[in-house]
Amino acid sequence: MTDYHLTIGSQPVTTNRYFDVKNPSNGELVGRAPQAGKAELDLAVAAAAEAFISWSAKSDAELQAACEKVTAVISGASEELAHMITLEQGKPLNGLGSRWEMGGAAAWAGYTAGLSLKTEVLQDTDEGRVELCRKPLGVVGSITPWNFPVMIAIWHILPALRTGNTVVIKPSPNTPLSTLKLIELIDRVLPAGVINVLTSDDDGENLGAMMAAHPDIRKIVFTGSCATGQKVMRSASETMKRLTLEMGGNDAGIVLPDVDPAAIAEGLFWGAFINNGQTCAALKRLYVHEDVHDAVCEALVAYARNIPVGDGMNDDSALGPIQNQMQFDKFAGFVAAAKVKGNVLLGGEPGIGLFFPPTIISGLSNDDDLVSQEQFGPALPVIKYADLEDAIVLANDSDNGLGGSVWSSDVVKAREVASRLECGSVWINKHGAIQPNAPFAGAKSSGLGVEFGQEGLHEFTDIQVVFS
Ligand code: NAD
Repeated sequence: MTDYHLTIGSQPVTTNRYFDVKNPSNGELVGRAPQAGKAELDLAVAAAAEAFISWSAKSDAELQAACEKVTAVISGASEELAHMITLEQGKPLNGLGSRWEMGGAAAWAGYTAGLSLKTEVLQDTDEGRVELCRKPLGVVGSITPWNFPVMIAIWHILPALRTGNTVVIKPSPNTPLSTLKLIELIDRVLPAGVINVLTSDDDGENLGAMMAAHPDIRKIVFTGSCATGQKVMRSASETMKRLTLEMGGNDAGIVLPDVDPAAIAEGLFWGAFINNGQTCAALKRLYVHEDVHDAVCEALVAYARNIPVGDGMNDDSALGPIQNQMQFDKFAGFVAAAKVKGNVLLGGEPGIGLFFPPTIISGLSNDDDLVSQEQFGPALPVIKYADLEDAIVLANDSDNGLGGSVWSSDVVKAREVASRLECGSVWINKHGAIQPNAPFAGAKSSGLGVEFGQEGLHEFTDIQVVFS
């Protein structure tokens, strides 16, 4: 068992108090993370502010070269970090698990390193020249969740660094160790203070809240629940911080009557159950036309019942446990309530510890919590519809608007329906596929701002218009 340390100004920093991090598969202690407070936050922000002076003055080519070094570090440490993710997060090493997460982290880092900020010439005439330039903001505070701890950290860190900002990152108390290690490694290839990491268990004084209110942090990039994102927005208003908020989703899928149920079952399953359903843009409710409803349910159940669930360190596990007790209890409550009215087609009963088998329930409506709330666990409610117009209304009947999908053998028709869904990303015959060159943003309460690609890079800058 290891006591991890913070990294502040390139120094390993210990604290008086530590908190335990347990393996959700078996409850064993994985390591202990330092309990940082206001003093450590002030130190980290000061180190990042100091580093910003020379980091922000670096040329585009220098920033690119540094980000390429960071990418190499991530690739080089991918096995070590994948094991840490599995131990503290619970997801399997294999399949769409922690090795896959590390592959994503390296891919996003490499792509972002290769982007750059171009000066735009808005006018160049006898009357004068007008240029739109983009400038780094200063110290960026990154606050991450527990579902994809390393990949989401990379989504925050790389565009911040690439545009000349410095970073203080705070991971979720449920999965702090992989981020502590990640930053320790990245720090070795960057100037002191460019990247810093703090951890806290959220008991007592809340470190994330302190970051959102900190006068010397210029931007918060936050990924997490809607409720916490709203708190961040409130705290950030005092200091007019720039914000990127990637929040919860309750993605709907609509299945049209012309599908081949057996052909779409695998895509539906992984769209919903990737990372055990603990994924922001997972398929969380499925509206299926009455003509194919029973056949789609049967095909889904036939596929799902063969998925091995177990300890993430076992080579053959495809899904692991729910990550933490709070999430387990919330999820189990939604399923228990849904069972009163719905038909349980698969699963429905809790397993040992934090394990819960893939669960598919039909016969529900938008009035049921399993449908209307973000369940964030291994369950998919299937809702029968007769009229496509009704299905579109039901799909849009949510404060969330992260993703959505339409399933049909007629791609033109599917695109037509997709264009009417109120969400930031929409997929045809798949769900949840994201990539570093495609902007990702939530509509409605699912977020504010954009991640990935050139648009994502711009979020870490302010514009300056130069008239000459
Ligand atoms: P959470 O909101 O509980 O916590 C997220 C982070 O915020 C953690 O680091 C936490 O310590 C911190 N935090 C807690 N209180 C805070 C406060 N008052 N001020 C600032 N920070 C505070 O979310 P979670 O349970 O870790 O993650 C699950 C949620 O994240 C789900 O709703 C999921 O949909 C969402 N999510 C969204 C995306 C996306 O890109 N849209 C990606 C992954 C997860």
